[in-house]
Amino acid sequence: MPLDFEFTDEQELFRKVVRTFAQNELAPWVRYIDKYGEEKQGHEKVKELEEKARRLGIQFLVLPKEYGGAGEGYVTAGIAAEELSRVFGTVPVGGISTFARFLYEYGNQEQKDRWLRALVRGDLELGFAITEPSGGSDVVSMQTRAERKGDVYVLEGEKGPVGGVRWSDAFVVFAKTSPEKGARGVSAFIVDANTPGIDKYYFNAIGRKHYGLGGYRFRGVEIPVENRIGEEGKGIYMLFGFFDWARALYGLECAACGLGALDELIDFVKNRKTFGQPLGKWESIQFRISEHYTRLEMARWYCYRTLWMKDRGLPISKESAMCKWFSSEAALAAANDCLQMKGAVAYTDECLDEYRIRTLRGSTIGEGTTEMMKIVIGRELLGKEFVPYR
Ligand SMILES: Cc1cc2nc3c(=O)[nH]c(=O)nc-3n(C[C@H](O)[C@H](O)[C@H](O)COP(=O)(O)OP(=O)(O)OC[C@H]3O[C@@H](n4cnc5c(N)ncnc54)[C@H](O)[C@@H]3O)c2cc1C
Repeated sequence: MPLDFEFTDEQELFRKVVRTFAQNELAPWVRYIDKYGEEKQGHEKVKELEEKARRLGIQFLVLPKEYGGAGEGYVTAGIAAEELSRVFGTVPVGGISTFARFLYEYGNQEQKDRWLRALVRGDLELGFAITEPSGGSDVVSMQTRAERKGDVYVLEGEKGPVGGVRWSDAFVVFAKTSPEKGARGVSAFIVDANTPGIDKYYFNAIGRKHYGLGGYRFRGVEIPVENRIGEEGKGIYMLFGFFDWARALYGLECAACGLGALDELIDFVKNRKTFGQPLGKWESIQFRISEHYTRLEMARWYCYRTLWMKDRGLPISKESAMCKWFSSEAALAAANDCLQMKGAVAYTDECLDEYRIRTLRGSTIGEGTTEMMKIVIGRELLGKEFVPYR
């Protein structure tokens, strides 16, 4: 009997710890971070919560213990992502190991000692800069160049909108080192955000304010050769490997956000009366709740299955793309309909519905759009010769 859907006792206990943290520590600050997330005070609150999460062992779950992580698997990371997002709508505390795991997997010893350890201590804020103003989906056609000149690479170009620009001390940037080689010509670098030649700008996002969306312009930015992560030309492969599991976690985040909206709605429709009956007695209401719940529960379990596959070292490109697009779209539709079923009160900041919609609106775009996810799935099902952009 190898098929087993049960979490271990330790995982169930861990879920309770994260849930308690989310309800007691995060919930009171949702609106505050939404309002001030792009300002210093909001960012300081996020940092304070991150510190608490770190002390509880909720962060850096898939990082080995020798680097200060929890040495847990991806399913356990999924539990944390789910519990935090059910309350907050997304994961506010440092992306749960994602950047740390990237540095661990692809960085050399010196980079791990310098950057990874600082990240785990909370002394470093790190961002990822892939998207360019000319387009994010077609990553391989990126324009940013990193030309080797002796002991440095010289960076020219622009990245944006990307997360963390307001706060990052450093960021991982993907740039062309051999433009003529296409996907094989992209390399990754870790860059100190205060290096001369970097000009920053900021966006006012409609949701996920704590992301600090903005952009970087690079004019003659010198990056020491030792800051290149992995081999020259391997950037795209590292990036796609990272996206594979990050997208499955992202899917869980979204499903949890939608389920959080349904939890509140169910309480609401039991009490709110129209035409002498609780709203929950009307078939139209009940059916919609049932439909959203079914989609989100199915999405949730598919995300766990994908993370379970990752824990077993199986390939998950297709599965994680399915998690990402389906969960984000199902959750956005659920959140939108929850607002409708509550009526006007949910169109105000009395309820979290409008907040969840703004949060989830970004989820169908960030880390690869719904359309790109379908291209990935199509490629895996039909074969590489069927990708539409070739
Ligand atoms: C909340 C949030 C956080 C983000 N954080 C980061 C970050 O930290 N780092 C980073 O680098 N980027 C980040 N991004 C940017 C994100 O990765 C890009 O927005 C995304 O990859 C899409 O790129 P684009 O916005 O340039 O849209 P485009 O690539 O210009 O596409 C525009 C639209 O056309 C569709 N489209 C494009 N090509 C096709 C096609 N062949 N067939 C059908 N439809 C197509 C797309 O799906 C999209 O809907 C973030 C975005 C959001 C919303």
